[in-house]
Amino acid sequence: MKKQEPLASLRDRLTQYMKEKSMRKTPERYEILRVAGLANGIFNIDELMLLMQKHGKFQVSRSTLFNTMELFFNAGLVNRHLVATAAHYELRTDRNPKAYVICRQCNTITRVSTSTAKLALQNLIVRYFNIEDKILYMYGVCRNCQAKNREEAKKNKISRN
Ligand SMILES: [Zn+2]
Repeated sequence: MKKQEPLASLRDRLTQYMKEKSMRKTPERYEILRVAGLANGIFNIDELMLLMQKHGKFQVSRSTLFNTMELFFNAGLVNRHLVATAAHYELRTDRNPKAYVICRQCNTITRVSTSTAKLALQNLIVRYFNIEDKILYMYGVCRNCQAKNREEAKKNKISRN
C-alpha cells in the first residue's frame, strides 16, 4: 500500500462518506477539512472560525462549521472532545494512542507527547471489544493557573499581614 499524506486519506474518506450518504460534495467541506489541517492539533469552533477567516478560500458561518465538524465526526475524520467548556475537535490522521491534560481552572485541553500516551495505553486491551481509538484524559491544574494561584496566595498573605 502506498503511503498517503494523512490529509489525503481523510479527504478520500470524506468523499466516500458523502457518496454513501448521497450528500452533495460541496467544495466548502473540503476547504474546511484543509483548513482544519492547519490547526496543528486540537481546536474548537471559534479557533477554526479564525483559521477560516485567515486562510480559507470561502467564508462560512459558525453554524456551518459546527455542522461540518459533526459530519466529520460521524464520518470518522475527527475525534471530538466534549471535555472542556466547548467541544474540541482533532483530525484523526493517525491511530496512535493519545493523552490529554485538561485544566480544571481555565478549561484548556492540551495533548501530551505521543510517547507518553503510548507508554500508558499501548498494551491496554479490552476483551471482546474492538478498540479504534485510545484516548486518555487527565485532569488537573495547568502551569499558567499554578502560577496565578501562587500569585494569589502571595497577595493574600501580604494583605493578611
Ligand atoms: Zn489553567
